[in-house]
Amino acid sequence: MRKLFKNGHIIDPASSTDRVCDIVIEDGKVAEIGENLSGDEVIDCSGYVIAPGLVDMHVHMREPGQENKETIATAAQAALAGGVTTILGMPNTVPAADNASVVTFILSQGAKTPVNVLTTGAATKSNAGKEMAEIGLMFEAGITAVSDDAFPVQNSDLMRRVMEYTKMFDLPILLHCEDKDLTMGTVMNEGAVSTHLGLAASPKAAEEIAVRRNIALCELTGCRTHIQHVSCAGSVEAVRLAKSKGIPVTAETCPQYFSLTEKELETYNPAAKVNPPLRTDEDVEAVKAGLKDGTLDVIATDHAPHAAEDKDVEIMYAAFGMTGLETSLALSITSLVKTGFMTLPELIALMTAAPAKVLGIDKGTLAPGADGDMVVFDPDEEWTVDVTKFRSKGKNTVLDGRKLTGKVKMTVVGGDVYKF
Ligand SMILES: [Zn+2]
Repeated sequence: MRKLFKNGHIIDPASSTDRVCDIVIEDGKVAEIGENLSGDEVIDCSGYVIAPGLVDMHVHMREPGQENKETIATAAQAALAGGVTTILGMPNTVPAADNASVVTFILSQGAKTPVNVLTTGAATKSNAGKEMAEIGLMFEAGITAVSDDAFPVQNSDLMRRVMEYTKMFDLPILLHCEDKDLTMGTVMNEGAVSTHLGLAASPKAAEEIAVRRNIALCELTGCRTHIQHVSCAGSVEAVRLAKSKGIPVTAETCPQYFSLTEKELETYNPAAKVNPPLRTDEDVEAVKAGLKDGTLDVIATDHAPHAAEDKDVEIMYAAFGMTGLETSLALSITSLVKTGFMTLPELIALMTAAPAKVLGIDKGTLAPGADGDMVVFDPDEEWTVDVTKFRSKGKNTVLDGRKLTGKVKMTVVGGDVYKF
């Protein structure tokens, strides 16, 4: 069975493809790219961009343990709607993904969904930051990376040992950079806006200190170190300096950090409470510059769904996080491409080939022989975000009601086509 996707604008940065032509998927793999190809089933893609399926390396699927917020099945449906074909789950589940049996459970639940579900393993037991988790056993069970997301390891000696151990398996370590003493009890970025609002706030230094420590430990251990959700100018600068010295560090940011600022909190909207917090215009510009010059390798979402009872409360008590899977492509196009800041191929690379490379997985390209994972989208269509239409259980985003550009029309996973 040859599925022929006809007359799409194929953008595959990994194979330097950027032209209007046909692509054929056969037996779940990319068989051919070229002009006037033939197929058994023809899918017209005129006017649409065809890109590799997006790889989102920062997703909270909430299962096991918090199925009221999200399940692996609903996260997968949200991913499909967002053009995301591979998702990497974070280990702050309940119980934590800190051992082989939880890892096996997550992967087996993931295998029942239409997308590629991968998982990290926790850096420490119960994410408690006291004792190293069973990284070797989790490696055998199939983790793609180790992470301390949501529970940043404060003890530098322990982090050093986790990184030395992680390196033995040639796994990347994905690090949430936060000095917890500086952020205790805070809800937003420290500055004029927080003073005006009278909200407890943390300085950017809380992130920068941890980024710099983790870079120093990366240099010490040689572990493949990936800095998660970079939100401020100082972190971008630290990563830029580390890379210039040849330290094997990579970094990601999320659409909210190059699209939104702390001003979102002026209405005391709990949906704008994220960790790290939304920063200033200056930080947004620095994060964008970091994406443009290669300092920041990847755009991931930090998709963090919550139930209404966790979010629709006074801002001090609201949970941190924003959903992202169903808006990441459009928000990125709106902020980075429509404004002329970068080209569509540059953006797509940041969401496909780049995360695949950081993780060391065979995804993120449409070269012949690659998995038939694609997103087909209209790069110019405007649409209004309506959280009631989200497939994710999490409706927590400040984007509800806002207009974005770029609409997913089809998501293809292993040759299976899902239309939107
Ligand atoms: Zn995090």
